[in-house]
Amino acid sequence: MQVTILGYYGGYPTNDVGTSAYLIQSDGYNLLMDAGSASLLALEHHIDPLDLDAVLLSHYHHDHIADLGVLQFTRQLKRTEKGDRAPLLSVYGHSEDQEAFRKTTLEEVSQGIDYTKEDSVTIGPFDVTYLKTLHPVPCYAFKIVERVTGKTLVYTADSGYLEAFLPFAEGADLLITDTNLFKGMEGHSVHMTSKECGYIANKSNIDQLVLSHLPQKGNLDLLREEAAAEAPNTRVMLAEKHLKISI
Ligand SMILES: [Zn+2]
Ligand SMILES: [Zn+2]
Repeated sequence: MQVTILGYYGGYPTNDVGTSAYLIQSDGYNLLMDAGSASLLALEHHIDPLDLDAVLLSHYHHDHIADLGVLQFTRQLKRTEKGDRAPLLSVYGHSEDQEAFRKTTLEEVSQGIDYTKEDSVTIGPFDVTYLKTLHPVPCYAFKIVERVTGKTLVYTADSGYLEAFLPFAEGADLLITDTNLFKGMEGHSVHMTSKECGYIANKSNIDQLVLSHLPQKGNLDLLREEAAAEAPNTRVMLAEKHLKISI
């Protein structure tokens, strides 16, 4: 599978970079994971938004769903080159916030699907399991397995540190973490630090770690070094707009 980072800031966009959004592709299938601010414009550099097959949402904070509405309008208003409407878009969200979940459905455009109904959900070529995170609103981390290859992506979504991430992320080919904080703030109830993300990568035997949901202020090279110091056997990268990683 190929993962493309469309936006990586936590909270708000700045300097032409948006907030959380990732394009996950396998065998012609296009899944958008989180739909942060400016993600639609970033997505267009890679595919026509009409070619998206599904959207998967971790939670309903603005920095993860800001572009969902304009994505729905794109699918409602834009036509393919042949003049056809886009097919109904599957939008996978949780239903613990009923009002937000209702907005994932727009008649003849998108259909909201509650992924917490079963222990796992099949989304095209992927099997997806989830883990509730530590966050002020209900939020879920995802383990996304490409069925044909067994390759695995784990995404912590937004979370403070949880012991449960260790077994959840075990052996993943790629881990994307919420690294909104520098070392020294460990035990925070909303986000993780560089040190905690590196610790998870090391304990879970992660090949590649991408630090994401990054802060707008501070020395990001230092953030990376702090994480890398905890995970000597892991390739540790900072998220970058349009960065593509194949696993
Ligand atoms: Zn966030
Ligand atoms: Zn959040």
